[in-house]
Amino acid sequence: MAPSTNSNISSDTSRNTVLFERARALIPGGVNSPVRAFKAVGGTPRFVQRAQGAYFWDADGKRYIDYIGSWGPMILGHGHPPVVEAVQKAVLEGFSYGAPTEREVELAEEIVKLVPSIEMLRLVSSGTEASMSAIRLARGATGRSKIIKFEGCYHGHADALLVKAGSGLATFGNPTSAGVPPEVVQHTLVLEYNHIAQLEEAFALHGSNTACLIIEPIAGNMNFVRASVPFMKRCRELCTQHGVLLVFDEVMTGFRVALGGAQSVYARSIPGFKPDMTVLGKVIGGGMPLAAFGGTRAVMEQLAPLGPVYQAGTLSGNPVATACGLATLREISKPGFYEALGERTRSLVSGLTRVAAQAGIPFCGDSEGGMFGFFLMEKLPQNYATVMTTDSPAFNRFFHAMLDKGVYYAPALYEAGFVSSAHTAEDIEATVEAAAQFFAGR
Ligand SMILES: *Cc1c(COP(=O)(O)O)cnc(C)c1O
Repeated sequence: MAPSTNSNISSDTSRNTVLFERARALIPGGVNSPVRAFKAVGGTPRFVQRAQGAYFWDADGKRYIDYIGSWGPMILGHGHPPVVEAVQKAVLEGFSYGAPTEREVELAEEIVKLVPSIEMLRLVSSGTEASMSAIRLARGATGRSKIIKFEGCYHGHADALLVKAGSGLATFGNPTSAGVPPEVVQHTLVLEYNHIAQLEEAFALHGSNTACLIIEPIAGNMNFVRASVPFMKRCRELCTQHGVLLVFDEVMTGFRVALGGAQSVYARSIPGFKPDMTVLGKVIGGGMPLAAFGGTRAVMEQLAPLGPVYQAGTLSGNPVATACGLATLREISKPGFYEALGERTRSLVSGLTRVAAQAGIPFCGDSEGGMFGFFLMEKLPQNYATVMTTDSPAFNRFFHAMLDKGVYYAPALYEAGFVSSAHTAEDIEATVEAAAQFFAGR
């Protein structure tokens, strides 16, 4: 990797620095969600002033090509006119009623049409809420307590999901956050992603007591790691065999990697493939707080007010958020949308790979639809432990060099990246050229 230009706090961040100081005085770490704080990469977070299309401008008026897109939701880029119009119209009709609306029905109909495994769903306000509720429902529907998750997959910050692997398959997980009592995670078994033998062993031991297996089918919270087709096939078989609900956390991948989500990608290789439940968020809100969980009718009917599993929300199905989500879904349903987005994203990954190779830098990457990841290593990792062997000082130098050149990647090596339909071929070329300059030590 090329030498550092030590740009951690460059002179052009002055107003960002002032704002960060003010923020830190009142908001823990100066941010309302931890990864925004640049703790992993060092330096001062950029305070965003405005955004349009594929770009945002920071507090100093500097422009960046945005490869975060609010961590996935902004699949159409910022300020896409039909979405803005829908939101403006909705705002004039009222912000929130706490009573049902037609748009909630329309959005539910749209989601059920696009994701065939979902027969019924409920709207909520965040991915955390959706996966937490999906797990309660899975437990309520099966009458079982244990859940299986995988190391490196993130499902929001509900207590039972903030867990890392215990010392063996017989011992359940350990909390990854203070404030989570060990008793709260005693039913959460954490396994290695893509490890079929361990999965089989876990089901043999605990399958009959397990309510659900929750997985990010293409993990975007340990950079970008796909579940292999044989692994996913085995997850499906074992869940079916043991009466365990297979829960796809598609908060990130839903409407992002394909119109039908990652499940439609696996269904190409595994005929008839379907999860039992799906968790959605990010893109379905188009940038507004909106998420959902859904699944088979039999399971979803266990939810209050029909069934015994309680779940509720004051702002659930918010009229402005549903307007934004619906308008977004309509735009991405247009013919050819994902072909073009996938092609653009692939051109970014292949461009970066090419210039890294020219400079003799170990580099590899992968993408699906508008989601991508790259690694400063020779070969794509298959699990969290391997992702974490990345040379993080090298990543941090890359991140800051790109930031200086006006390219905004996720400020941590364990995050995926996102391309929107607003990114042009010129944006991709400029990005690849910036990377080429860095790799060449310029
Ligand atoms: C972002 C994310 C969540 C959490 O969603 P929030 O809206 O941030 O609560 C859950 N699961 C996955 C896979 C995510 O990427």
